[in-house]
Amino acid sequence: MTPLPETLEEIRAALAARDEERKGLPSFSAAPRWLYCDGSHLHEAASGPNLSSLPAEEGEMLHAVMEHEELDPEKFDEYQIWSVTEAERIQVELVEKFIGTPEQTFAEQRLWLYDSGTSTEYDEARKPRASGRFDKLFVKGKTGLLIDYKFGHRIVEHAVVNEQMLCNALVVMEQYGLEKVIVAIIQPRAERHLRKTVAKFTAAYLRVKRPWIIHQARVSMLPGMPRRASAKACEWCRSLKNGTCPEGVTFGLVSRLIDRELPGEDAAQLIEQSTLAAKSSEAITRHALEQLVEAPHSIPRYTTSERVPSMTDVEALLRSKYTDKKASEVKAMLPDLLEGLCRESEVQFTKKTLKDVETFMQRLRDWHGIDEHEAAMLTHKISPAK
Ligand code: SF4
Repeated sequence: MTPLPETLEEIRAALAARDEERKGLPSFSAAPRWLYCDGSHLHEAASGPNLSSLPAEEGEMLHAVMEHEELDPEKFDEYQIWSVTEAERIQVELVEKFIGTPEQTFAEQRLWLYDSGTSTEYDEARKPRASGRFDKLFVKGKTGLLIDYKFGHRIVEHAVVNEQMLCNALVVMEQYGLEKVIVAIIQPRAERHLRKTVAKFTAAYLRVKRPWIIHQARVSMLPGMPRRASAKACEWCRSLKNGTCPEGVTFGLVSRLIDRELPGEDAAQLIEQSTLAAKSSEAITRHALEQLVEAPHSIPRYTTSERVPSMTDVEALLRSKYTDKKASEVKAMLPDLLEGLCRESEVQFTKKTLKDVETFMQRLRDWHGIDEHEAAMLTHKISPAK
């Protein structure tokens, strides 16, 4: 049984120990993030330490209290006592309903997920992929009841779609040879209401989910993976909270813009922030493209080569029928196309190329969209190829 922390320092030490326990690998408590955003685990780790907060400290203390029989009224306020008492009451109800008399009970146990199998031990040689610490597990026969307490105020996702519970269910199923795992989230303070959600997972269902979880846990440890912003992934991500992830920040802005009506001052602020975000993303993209032109393989998964236009490109442009607007767009593009064409012709100066250029120049002169002066300028541009 974990000793009940007495002071704030002890609570903070327990939280820090929890971080260390994870050995830098993905943790099930953050599964909604790393299962949907490949680059989030390493990005979050690089964005600074997991600073302690009041809700986290209180949550840690109340979790520890749930392990102990006695609740000293001298040390806790009424709301804390009520929260713990309610969580215990719901737990008793759930155990009676789904398990009856448990044959085994486990509390606060960390389980490690390996490519094959699960263990309570961290074994580096077996290459652990992720781990999770569950709050309570009651077992009878081949059925397990897995309980998670959440003492925060923000509503967490229903147990049916809660990835933390899915991952925990997978490892307890494997560790204890279960055929069915019932998962329950007890949230006594969810927006100041008591909330309980329950889901049932069969072993077959959990086995189907295993390859996805393993794949994402492995991908999460690879450097340079893309960050994929989404409501699910970003909701609890520290990189969003501390503003170090441009994808998350932009996504957050967009969500705020489309999710609700904006009162005046908020709207003004959001417009300013969006303008800034748009400018930053434009600058980043431009800078990256310049870098790619200089060094085409310097950015993983992105490559470019300066596109050399062909005669076909130019001829297709000239053969088309244009509106006035289109004609002026084409005229604006021609100098670049011709420059590219000249470069190409210098390298592959064959009889065919020469013929193509002659034909092209004839078309150029015939084309009513170009006046004499422009034709002369353009002819001059391709003259080096001759
Ligand atoms: S803020 Fe969102 S997109 Fe950025 S790393 Fe976190 S989860 Fe991924």
